[in-house]
Amino acid sequence: MQPSIPPGTLRVLSLIPPMTQLNTPYPSTAYLTGFLRGQGVVAVQDDLALALALRLLSPAGLADLKRHIDAVPQGERTVRTHAFAEQYPRYAATIAPTIRFLQGQDSTLAHRIVGRGFLPEGPRFATLDAYDDDDGGGPLAWAFGALGVQDHARHLATLYLNDLADVVREAVDSRFEFVRYGESLAQSQATFDPLAAALAAAPTLVDAYLQQLTLASLAQHRPTVVLVSVPFPGAVYAAFRIAQTIKLHDPATVTVLGGGYANTELRELTEPRVFDFFDFITLDAGERPLLALLDHLQGQRSAQRLVRTYHRVDGAVRYTNFAEPDIAFEAVGTPTWDGLPLQRYLSLLDMLNPMHRLWSDGRWNKLTVAHGCYWKKCSFCDVSLDYISRYDAASAETLCDRIEAIVAETGQTGFHLVDEAAPPKSLKALADELQRRQIGISWWGNIRFEKSFTPDLCQQLADSGCIAISGGLEVASDRLLTLMKKGVTVDQVARVTKGFSDAGILVHAYLMYGFPTQTVQDTVDALEYVRQLFAEGCIQSGFWHRFSATVHSPVGRAPQDYGVQLVPLPPVSFAKNDIGFTDPTGCDHAALGVGLKKALYNYMHGIGLDEDVRRWFDFHVPKPKVAKNRIARALQG
Ligand code: SF4
Repeated sequence: MQPSIPPGTLRVLSLIPPMTQLNTPYPSTAYLTGFLRGQGVVAVQDDLALALALRLLSPAGLADLKRHIDAVPQGERTVRTHAFAEQYPRYAATIAPTIRFLQGQDSTLAHRIVGRGFLPEGPRFATLDAYDDDDGGGPLAWAFGALGVQDHARHLATLYLNDLADVVREAVDSRFEFVRYGESLAQSQATFDPLAAALAAAPTLVDAYLQQLTLASLAQHRPTVVLVSVPFPGAVYAAFRIAQTIKLHDPATVTVLGGGYANTELRELTEPRVFDFFDFITLDAGERPLLALLDHLQGQRSAQRLVRTYHRVDGAVRYTNFAEPDIAFEAVGTPTWDGLPLQRYLSLLDMLNPMHRLWSDGRWNKLTVAHGCYWKKCSFCDVSLDYISRYDAASAETLCDRIEAIVAETGQTGFHLVDEAAPPKSLKALADELQRRQIGISWWGNIRFEKSFTPDLCQQLADSGCIAISGGLEVASDRLLTLMKKGVTVDQVARVTKGFSDAGILVHAYLMYGFPTQTVQDTVDALEYVRQLFAEGCIQSGFWHRFSATVHSPVGRAPQDYGVQLVPLPPVSFAKNDIGFTDPTGCDHAALGVGLKKALYNYMHGIGLDEDVRRWFDFHVPKPKVAKNRIARALQG
């Protein structure tokens, strides 16, 4: 039987499932809600990720946690849960003021927090004293001299919350983290079995809270359709728990799943049990499929004319894609944050990596300059999927109209441009229009290090409010940059990044290791380039990602072109994305990764920039073949 919505009762609730970031709302529901309202649909939204975190991190939440730990015999407790139980009165007394502080509602508490006598300190605080060889935590004590009291206090408060997340994980739910929940149940899981088993198990404390919050949201909004937008595998389990709660509460409420996870991982879905939870799953840009679905639910369109939509028919999964053009990016409307509790997000300060600070700290309005990527060639990227391959830009006038509307609605002037790679021409036009209208915002986003970002353009972008940019340098090796069709050279990256840096814009480089055919020599040479880029003031921040192949990337689709062999996948009825491969070079990338991260962490703090890059590896590696002044020469050229 098809679900149906009686005329005049359509009311759409879009939900953000746990877990996503806690400093600012994930933008998907804001986009959907803005779009649907523009179409005259009654649409509301709720962030259950934030709500769940705040429920756990409340005096009542900690009391529940303590009760769980008390039920475990002393001898069976972990070190962390034992320490929490011992210090419980202090946690109970400090949690509410600390959350208010992180919400920006009680800044003077910073002075007490930095005194180190206020917050109970668990194992996470050890990073303050220890030498960290990774990309994150410490030694931070020396760095606090450079941080203001507020930042210092926010970092300590973040460690305190991380200690509590560890206790939640060890005491009540081993799958819980602040940024993901039950991720392994969904990521590239060929069958639904692990997720089905987890969903059939008795609810944990975290699940129970999520059920309560879901029911409260249903009671508040009384939707007839609930859209659950799932960006990552780490939000899938909770999305299904939400749908399970909705169906138990009222099976007639229509549940719809969409978002980045479905778009990448559920393209070969044949598992009917998924539809015990969700009535429909849509793929790719959600606007057109949703309009078609809402028409269908109101009896104005047959099921044969759904767009990019899975549903269950006679016990089997059916994918229907009645070809209709997507809504132009120019016409998708302005996102709205109306209904989201903007004052309750937490400004965390997890890492001193300057770019990661922007991600986790502060409430940024999220805006897209263009749908998709104008380059769409990189061989490690999902270039066969709509979110990359369908490039569609909005005009600078439209973007500035959206910016003005968002500032008026939220009162916030910071924008994170969430493009895959914002095109230089569009950014130039945006800067022109921002300056013409004298709109005072700050913005940051992701680009390609293109020649067309001249020093003059970098300066203009800075003048228009650009404070930071990130871009892919990937493996700093001209041979590998060519193989991965990145369309840049190391020298070009040096000149472009220097232009941004000279304009006062923070530059973050995405770095990669473990690309097919990459040798130890390539890795050492890449690190030498990175060292010189830091030393010459071209980049200030970076992050190493280990290459992984996906089935949607050129490497996954034509591995022979990259000299690797794919590991065959089992039959897939549920999720499919990552795919293993064997590389005949046989290089131990995991071991090299440790040294790369250690080096980068130090470079970001200005340490070791004059030293031989081989010092960061615990084993013998060859001498770099890159000339010591290679980047300096590139900058003169
Ligand atoms: S990696 Fe970035 S620049 Fe390359 S195709 Fe993907 S989105 Fe575009």
